[in-house]
Amino acid sequence: MDPDASKEAIDDVVRRIESFDCSAHVSSGSSQTVIGVIGDTRTVAQAAAWGRLEGVEKVIRVMEPYKLVSRQFKPENTVVEVRNTAIGDGSFTPIAGPCAVETRDQLFRTAEAVVKAGATVLRGDAFKPRTSPYAFQGLGEEGLQYLAEAREEFDVPFIAEVLDPRDVELVASYADILRVGTRNMANYTLLQEIGSCGKPVQLKRGFTATLDEWLQAAEYIYKSGNTEIIMVERGIRTFETASRNTLDITAVPLLKQISHLPVIVDPSHSGGKRELVAPLAKAGIAAGADGFMIDVHTEPETAKVDGAQALLPEEFEELMGQIQRLGAALDVPVV
Ligand code: PEP
Ligand code: MN
Repeated sequence: MDPDASKEAIDDVVRRIESFDCSAHVSSGSSQTVIGVIGDTRTVAQAAAWGRLEGVEKVIRVMEPYKLVSRQFKPENTVVEVRNTAIGDGSFTPIAGPCAVETRDQLFRTAEAVVKAGATVLRGDAFKPRTSPYAFQGLGEEGLQYLAEAREEFDVPFIAEVLDPRDVELVASYADILRVGTRNMANYTLLQEIGSCGKPVQLKRGFTATLDEWLQAAEYIYKSGNTEIIMVERGIRTFETASRNTLDITAVPLLKQISHLPVIVDPSHSGGKRELVAPLAKAGIAAGADGFMIDVHTEPETAKVDGAQALLPEEFEELMGQIQRLGAALDVPVV
């Protein structure tokens, strides 16, 4: 719509869209309103006719298979707010914590260290997707209770993975942000369930997914009513075997151009090795990511999950110092 389109003109366009059995998605930015037409748009009158309506600036056909998460649809960045932290507002959000909650003590020691070093969101999982059915699967609800206690103790929101649509309500009753892991990116039942959970969600890229597939997965969540989505580039499976996965750094600026959703990097699960975490984290902030998520463990050698990629608290603190300096050079606040 024209920047100065009246409310009547906007309402009129919405009414006309609805008269074609389509629904209208109105997104009001600070400078302009964009009205999306959702449904079988073949039934809708010619674009040229819409262009002549009062208040309409231009008519764009979004050709991509994802619409709601596209920047054409919503030109302004989506900002996800949790407690005192905002993700996607131009700052860089450091998220850190243990891969899995193992004991209350382990969680608390790690949480204290990462918050002290500057992390503004705590990570820690109570449900772990393990390749081996014999491996540690997480503490379940007990783990979520410890995380909720740590949130109060250290005044920090937390994020936790949900594996099963039947657990969405449970995890959402504790966590500030839910995560869909790489293995579940294409679990459409889970995505739809999360769409109505009322909590922000991190959507990891499937390790074999193209950007198109990843964005369509986000579209499932958005379409189901949850607009607070954080995309996580966590590495993809390539021909290279020297690292666990290849962090697709190109995906960061590409996604920022194509979509309005915030995007963060996971240098831990992509590289899979401690010594790769800091370089990949720095590449992330330089490429324009809205944050990172890093595994930290006080005793990586005894970790029940992913010890090889966990940073020690002092290594995380050192990295945070470097990220602060990079942020200052790039004019990106690290909070
Ligand atoms: C994780 O973040 O703990 C995790 C399991 O990551 P991914 O789904 O990317 O493997
Ligand atoms: Mn892990």
